[in-house]
Amino acid sequence: MIHFRSVFSDLNRRVSLGCCIFLGLDYDGTLIELVSSPEDGKLPEDIKFVLKTLMASSKVTPAIISGRSLQNVRDHIGLDNINLVGDHGVEVDGSLIRFIHPEAEKFREFLKRLIPNISSVVSQYPSALLEIKPYTLSVHYRLLSIKERKSLLSKLRNFLKPLLDKELCRKKWGKEILNIIMPFDWDKGHAFTLLVDEMKKKCPCKPIVPIYIGDDITDEDAFRVSRIEGYAVRVGKPKKNTLANYYIDSPDEVKSFLFDLCELVKDENTALFS
Ligand SMILES: [Mg+2]
Repeated sequence: MIHFRSVFSDLNRRVSLGCCIFLGLDYDGTLIELVSSPEDGKLPEDIKFVLKTLMASSKVTPAIISGRSLQNVRDHIGLDNINLVGDHGVEVDGSLIRFIHPEAEKFREFLKRLIPNISSVVSQYPSALLEIKPYTLSVHYRLLSIKERKSLLSKLRNFLKPLLDKELCRKKWGKEILNIIMPFDWDKGHAFTLLVDEMKKKCPCKPIVPIYIGDDITDEDAFRVSRIEGYAVRVGKPKKNTLANYYIDSPDEVKSFLFDLCELVKDENTALFS
C-alpha cells in the first residue's frame, strides 16, 4: 500500500487541468475518532469549517457515507445541504440526489418484527448496545469482555441462522459491530457510485476524480469502486487484506488532508503539494 500523501502532487495536477474531485468520507474512525455510543461523536468545529469550505468550491464535492442512520449523521454533523448517505447506503440525501432503496420500507417492517427478539438477547449483556436504525440494526460489542463477546455472538448466530438461510437479511461485520442489513446487493459502494454518476450528469464536461476514505470492513465496498477511476484510501496502518490502494494514518491525518485540499482548490495554480 502507498501512503495517500504521495498522490497529492498528482491530485494537484489533475485539479489544475480542470478535474473535479468527488470526495466520499466515512464518518466514525475517519472524520472522527471511534466513539463507544452512536449517541456520541459530534463533528468538531474545525472539520465542519473545512467541509463548508470544500462544499463552497466548484472543484470538490464532499459526501459523508456512514453506517449511522441518515438522521443521526445529520444531527451530529450539523451541516445543511451536504451530501449524506446513511444506513450503509440505503438512504441518500443532499444537493446531488435524494434516494431511498425501493425495498427499504418493506425491510423496515421486517426489522420491526425482529427487534424484540434481538433486544432480549443483547440486553443480557449490559455493556452491549443494540442500535436501532430505520433500515439496519447494529449490535455494538466493543465494551464486552472476550468471554461475553463469544457468548453474545454465538446466541446471535443461532438466532440469525434461519433468517440468513432464507435470505431474509444479511449480516455484515464492522469494527466490533455486527450489522443486520437488507438481503439485497446494495451497500456503501453502490451509494458512492450513485453519487459519482449524479455528479458526472451534473458536470458532463469535467472529468471526475473519485476519492473514498474509510476505516472499516464496511468501507471495502466503496474501495472496490473508488479505486477504478480514483483513489481508495484506508485509514490505519497498511494491511494486506483490503481493496484500498492507499492508506492514511489516522482521523487526524484525514483532517490535515482536508485542510490541504482546501488550500489546493482555493488557488489551482499554486503547486501546494509539489
Ligand atoms: Mg468507520
